[in-house]
Amino acid sequence: MTFIVGLTGGIGSGKSAAAALFAELGAAVVDTDAIAHELTAPGGAAIEPIRSAFGAEVITPNGALDRAAMRRRVFADAQAKARLEAILHPMIRAEADRRSAAARAPYVVLVVPLLVESGGYGSRVQRVAVVDCPEDIQVARVMSRSGLSAEEARAIMAAQVGREQRLAAADDVIDNGGELAGLRRQVDALHRHYLEMAAVS
Ligand code: ATP
Repeated sequence: MTFIVGLTGGIGSGKSAAAALFAELGAAVVDTDAIAHELTAPGGAAIEPIRSAFGAEVITPNGALDRAAMRRRVFADAQAKARLEAILHPMIRAEADRRSAAARAPYVVLVVPLLVESGGYGSRVQRVAVVDCPEDIQVARVMSRSGLSAEEARAIMAAQVGREQRLAAADDVIDNGGELAGLRRQVDALHRHYLEMAAVS
């Protein structure tokens, strides 16, 4: 059986940075955000179901999901959000399963931003690793990366599960409140640990 580590953390906590370090060491990385983008890119498997459910106005002329239009629909209508998730989430999970099973690596790091919130991944992962950093640092990193204001960054964080609740779900905590060298040291140690766990799983 493939040994799968679920990697999660709040917005801007450093999930992608940690995943890149695991990949450098030889883990297979399966990223559910990347899968969601592929499913909703031109020709993606989610485009026709979304067009059927929401109409052509949420599809761009080149056949991708119009994220801004969809965001407006979902913002105004909780049922629309549930319908969109009912289309996308099973497709994302199925593709994540497919990629995890096909991985040729000692173990898989499955990156799921909303792992604690969404519930659908508990049975899919043998271990949960949480990338954690103080909220002020999270805000600063999100602002410098995406140009969002502090208020916008905090609004997104408020819609996610809180830091304490996320940490309570962790088997392993990766402290990314410091420099990248510290992140690398922790990923190195966890990698050795996961190799051992994968060998006996
Ligand atoms: P999102 O949830 O938005 O996808 P994420 O959790 O994947 O974010 P990253 O994209 O890895 O977070 O990191 C957010 C930003 O902070 C990036 O610009 C990244 O380069 C930077 N960053 C991550 N870790 C550190 C660190 N230890 N020191 C300095 N900058 C960092």
